[in-house]
Amino acid sequence: MIDFHCHLDLYPDALKLLPIVSARNLFTLVVTTSPKAWLATSNVFAGYENIKVALGLHPEIAEQKAGERLLLLSCIPKAKYIGEIGIDGSPKYKETISLQESILNDTLTECERAGGKILSIHSRNASSRVLDLVEKNCRKSTVVLHWFSGSLTEAQRAQDLGCWFSVGPAMLRGANGRSIVASLPINKILPETDGPFTTNRSAPLMPWEAIDIVNTLVPIWGIPKEDVILQIRNNLAALISEENFQQNHSDTK
Ligand code: MN
Repeated sequence: MIDFHCHLDLYPDALKLLPIVSARNLFTLVVTTSPKAWLATSNVFAGYENIKVALGLHPEIAEQKAGERLLLLSCIPKAKYIGEIGIDGSPKYKETISLQESILNDTLTECERAGGKILSIHSRNASSRVLDLVEKNCRKSTVVLHWFSGSLTEAQRAQDLGCWFSVGPAMLRGANGRSIVASLPINKILPETDGPFTTNRSAPLMPWEAIDIVNTLVPIWGIPKEDVILQIRNNLAALISEENFQQNHSDTK
């Protein structure tokens, strides 16, 4: 139905998947890991109006892609969606954390200068650092925190800052993920897979499987499945209100 954060360009047979994803999903946000990848993927994925490609520089490869930093900033005015960007404070990436922070800060600043963007942001082990930068920079942009895994206090702070949250089946497998989601307003949640880096048993989660979160949301929200689906569709419409996906796509997606 909706996948608000996937790496469709990185699936094997991505080009064969494109028309299938476009047909099965109402909307798919393809996040990229570098500005060069955004340029290439935007070209290849053109022609599917319900698949959007976001301009990114993944924090896990900040050092390797640091040479593309100016390209990233110069492409921002041309992109509506920005992602995947953010900060990863895990031990493996801690050495580059000031570089990651500096790239995120510049990106958020440039997004404001360009009138505001919709951003998909990674914040693993760095929730407070990310929220500090969001608080400092974001007025016109809309921040969607992808797979948020901070504390409940940080989740509350993110809500107070007006953040949205994209939530996937993998996040909801854990008790922490479920308790975060239970604490969030239902009108700020969108589905995601983060595929192909997440799996369902052994196969990568497919973009149309993000909707599996509905089954977990039914008992958490305490409303029927149809109402959960309707809520999520309304959430997407509210976020991207200037685009009329509903008019072009059947209600069954
Ligand atoms: Mn990702």
